Amino acid sequence: MGTFAVWPLPAKNSWQTPSRGIGGMRTRVLIVGGGPVGLTLAMDLAWRGIDVIVAERRPLNDPPNVKCGQIGARSMEIFRRLGLADKLRGIGLPADYPNDIVSATSVTGIEFSRVSIPARGARGTPAAAGPDTVWPTPEHTHRCNQKFFEPVLFAHAAEQPRSRILHRTEITDLAQGEQGVTASAVDLDGGTRSTIECDYLVGCDGASSLVRKSIGAEFVGIPVLQYAQSFHVRAPQLRSLLPGKPAWAYFSLNPRRCGITMAVDGRETWNIQNYSCPGETGLDHLDRDWVIRSILGVGPDFEYELLSCEDWIARRLVASKFHDRRVFICGDAAHLWMPLGGFGMSAGIADAANLAWKLAGVLHGWATPEILDAYEPERQPITDQASRIISDIGYQVMMQRNELSPEVERLDAIGEAARAAAGQLAYALDMEQQCCGGLNFGYFYDRSPIIAYDGEQAPTYTMGTFTSTTVPGCRVPHVWLEGGRSLYDAMGPDYTLLRLDPTAHVAGIVAAAAQRGLPLAVLDVRSREASQLYRHGLVLVRPDQHVAWRGDAEPADTLDLVDLVRGAARTSMAKSA
Ligand SMILES: Cc1cc2nc3c(=O)[nH]c(=O)nc-3n(C[C@H](O)[C@H](O)[C@H](O)COP(=O)(O)OP(=O)(O)OC[C@H]3O[C@@H](n4cnc5c(N)ncnc54)[C@H](O)[C@@H]3O)c2cc1C
Repeated sequence: MGTFAVWPLPAKNSWQTPSRGIGGMRTRVLIVGGGPVGLTLAMDLAWRGIDVIVAERRPLNDPPNVKCGQIGARSMEIFRRLGLADKLRGIGLPADYPNDIVSATSVTGIEFSRVSIPARGARGTPAAAGPDTVWPTPEHTHRCNQKFFEPVLFAHAAEQPRSRILHRTEITDLAQGEQGVTASAVDLDGGTRSTIECDYLVGCDGASSLVRKSIGAEFVGIPVLQYAQSFHVRAPQLRSLLPGKPAWAYFSLNPRRCGITMAVDGRETWNIQNYSCPGETGLDHLDRDWVIRSILGVGPDFEYELLSCEDWIARRLVASKFHDRRVFICGDAAHLWMPLGGFGMSAGIADAANLAWKLAGVLHGWATPEILDAYEPERQPITDQASRIISDIGYQVMMQRNELSPEVERLDAIGEAARAAAGQLAYALDMEQQCCGGLNFGYFYDRSPIIAYDGEQAPTYTMGTFTSTTVPGCRVPHVWLEGGRSLYDAMGPDYTLLRLDPTAHVAGIVAAAAQRGLPLAVLDVRSREASQLYRHGLVLVRPDQHVAWRGDAEPADTLDLVDLVRGAARTSMAKSA
């Protein structure tokens, strides 16, 4: 197993030939797994000037799994910073296809609840109204299937001069030492074995993660919540059978088989999901064709083509640790839950955004390696909270199906009354799941060693609700600046000191940052909205848009603050005042 160092790496991405054998290599960060999370981490690191290799088993242009149907708003904010939000907005459902969420007796049956969400082409126009259009964000949840967005992520990651994607490459083993990590790799086409050396390794290798196991982490939680089947079908006839305005998602609720159907291309392809009911210990006893027809509400003469199907298990699991010395895990490698609210990938993207700047800070030399110890206490509690919030709504959805009135399909007053009751509950549950502003924006890091807390408690959040605030640890509130510019576009890529009080002195923090080499931008914020929301004259924002510190004047020891946020704390400033 020969190893040769090619550091610094050539700027050109030349390793995407699917069947090429690999030699020994060296990189700064090796990412195991090129799913949506690994690709986001690669883009973020490359954007921050860090050379990165992604090892991915799948070949280039492998057809993506169609399971993900939406990219959460917070993920879209992250993609906006990385320069690909516009590319993503341009793909998916037809621009005028409604993003509504309907509950009905079946896809072609009687509708009893509709949450209206604007089509992507209508976003930003005066006509666009919906429960999420008032969120304080420059980006909204994008209902777009993985079939469309994954190739865009691959292409964007591959375009970055500092990232390389090794397709058909499997990492089979890893060993870490004082100076770095050595991973064993196999070229799945040629069978050649080799090594890749790196300073840090991140496992974005999905639910059965080798990297998770290699750091001795275990999944803790509930291994089986529900059995599920997904069917990807081509059914060109279905659109003409929809009784009303088309919707993006249909929750079918009837006494035979409940399930969810999502429009994939808005024309002829659909993703149908069937979940077990309480008491069912599997789904193998069900006739799959009958399941599909019951959820769609179509007879035996209805034609469809089954493009793919997948049986899977809904779980609630969070890894017992996210980090061991030079090795980290992100995404499904670190946490798994039911896909209600479509937030699993988005939580992984948030892991990646949290870790990327810390790794970059260490590798550029302005942060100490101890900054990396903040990754786990920041991300593990948040993903544990998300897993519980989502399981709770999952339980309510199961009970909704279980307690559904058998009269819900009757065409008389009794049926109408049953649908009115079902509709009320369905609307509340659909809103909670599909307009989950709290999951996107409400979480906060309240036990981080690199945040200067000031004693104010961050506001609690639910799946659907949140409060924008500058309490340290929270996502910095988004506001629109003069000329309609997003605050997030105006902030620097690294630390940004927001000055809301034009008379506040910042020279001390600027000098301390310069002394320690911490990249810092100062941004004067002139915005009525911000002055009402922010309440402090100065707010120090981290590279991941979370608040690190706030005050009306600089702290007495500015070097102390700068050392704290770069992982070199000399005092107990991180503890609540
Ligand atoms: C039915 C369903 C619907 C969902 N809908 C949504 C949604 O709408 N929105 C949302 O946010 N989330 C959704 N999720 C969750 C989402 O699919 C996952 O959270 C997301 O795919 C996790 O991404 P990842 O990159 O961490 O892992 P994966 O997507 O699993 O990617 C891991 C990658 O690692 C590669 N790999 C694994 N081991 C190795 C190795 N040893 N060497 C090299 N490569 C390796 C694999 O080939 C794979 O490409 C849904 C989940 C399900 C089941």
